[in-house]
Amino acid sequence: MPLLVMKFGGTSVADLARIKNAAGKVRREVERGYDVIVIVSAMSGKTNELVGWVEQTSPLFDAREYDAVVSSGENVTAGLMALTLQEMGVPARSWQGWQVPINTTSAHSAARFVSIPRDNLDAKFAEGMKVAVVAGFQGLSPEGRITTLGRGGSDTTAVAFAAAFNAERCDIYTDVDGVYTTDPRISSKARKLNKIAFEEMLELASLGAKVLQTRSVELAMRYNVRLRVLSSFEDTDETSGTLVCGEDEIMESKVVSGVAYSRDEAKITLFTIEDRPGVAQAIFGPLSEAGVNVDMIVQNISEKDYDDSHPGAVTDMTFSCPINQVARAKKALEDAKAADLIKYDELIIDTEVAKVSVVGIGMRSHAGVAATMFKALAAENVNIKVISTSEIKISVLIDRKYMELAVQALHDAFELEKVA
Ligand code: ADP
Ligand code: ASP
Ligand code: MG
Repeated sequence: MPLLVMKFGGTSVADLARIKNAAGKVRREVERGYDVIVIVSAMSGKTNELVGWVEQTSPLFDAREYDAVVSSGENVTAGLMALTLQEMGVPARSWQGWQVPINTTSAHSAARFVSIPRDNLDAKFAEGMKVAVVAGFQGLSPEGRITTLGRGGSDTTAVAFAAAFNAERCDIYTDVDGVYTTDPRISSKARKLNKIAFEEMLELASLGAKVLQTRSVELAMRYNVRLRVLSSFEDTDETSGTLVCGEDEIMESKVVSGVAYSRDEAKITLFTIEDRPGVAQAIFGPLSEAGVNVDMIVQNISEKDYDDSHPGAVTDMTFSCPINQVARAKKALEDAKAADLIKYDELIIDTEVAKVSVVGIGMRSHAGVAATMFKALAAENVNIKVISTSEIKISVLIDRKYMELAVQALHDAFELEKVA
């Protein structure tokens, strides 16, 4: 039997009526002759509520219990989806991660897949089950504990099942009808893309476009899964939505293909550090041990960069990290200073910043993208605090209050509303 994976995100299963709507889409595929693996998220808002309950109960929580609690939202929707399908006359049953089993690492709240044995689901399909409804976002550690895959992880569950079961396609049903040139909630000029290259989607996702979890795109790229994003609220067919695919399948040839943003950033500066070998390691070692995900890094030049006759030269180091890791970063740096591992005069923490990025595979072969970007930001009087670049992206850190303005200005500057 040909097999499809269909994933429904939180807003698509937000209440019983929406679960019924989603189940209707599944039934249609069964009627077309497919076996289906349905991956469900928790009802929208549920995971946030569960995270809140954990944090209120225990601020420095045991990560294993965090996962036990926050994974539970998906169990409810999996059961309800199976029941809804049964009521429609479709043979279906639900599976929690451990029942499959979805084997992961034991990195709680950021677990990675190790294996998804097919035997249990295959046996049920062979008995006539048409739909396996699997709770997204969760897995089982080697120690036998429940794990979760990080926020937005159900996308990754879906792609992993598509790879493991050789699915014809992995359809991600969500509350927008595809991947846009930027978040359509930020810019009314955002344009839906019919296709986007894996590499571009990977960058957009990792730079904040939460329409797909980054890891899901990585897996789709590695296993060549046909990954599609489409609306759960509209009538759809094989041509709907956005296909995430290899570069060779893309006709459009814009230099920049999308603008992404990440609202919840913070900038930390260590003011007056020594300028000598080993200092960066002494700063970023403890941060890494504390589990801080450092993103952009800048070190100022010092007198020593002009000539070598300044043995006691000093400089400043700035980095960015997610805002919810600031407390951890601050503690790690203060502890390192107290232990005399690093020296600095002052720690300057700015929690009012956001990151805005432009992405496009065309940047590999085109000059001038940075100039266009900086000109557009200057025209809006947006001050750039930190810049970082890679082969196919340029990111800037700016004041959060200008984030939406910057996204719109860049969307205009690169004429993303127009088809190439
Ligand atoms: P789900 O609950 O279905 O997983 P998410 O909220 O995780 O849905 O992701 C969908 C959201 O991603 C959209 O509502 C949209 O606001 C946001 N988004 C951000 N960037 C983009 C983009 N470039 N294209 C489409 N949606 C985007
Ligand atoms: N429910 C989880 C979250 O909100 C996983 C997901 O929806 O993908 O992050
Ligand atoms: Mg999501």
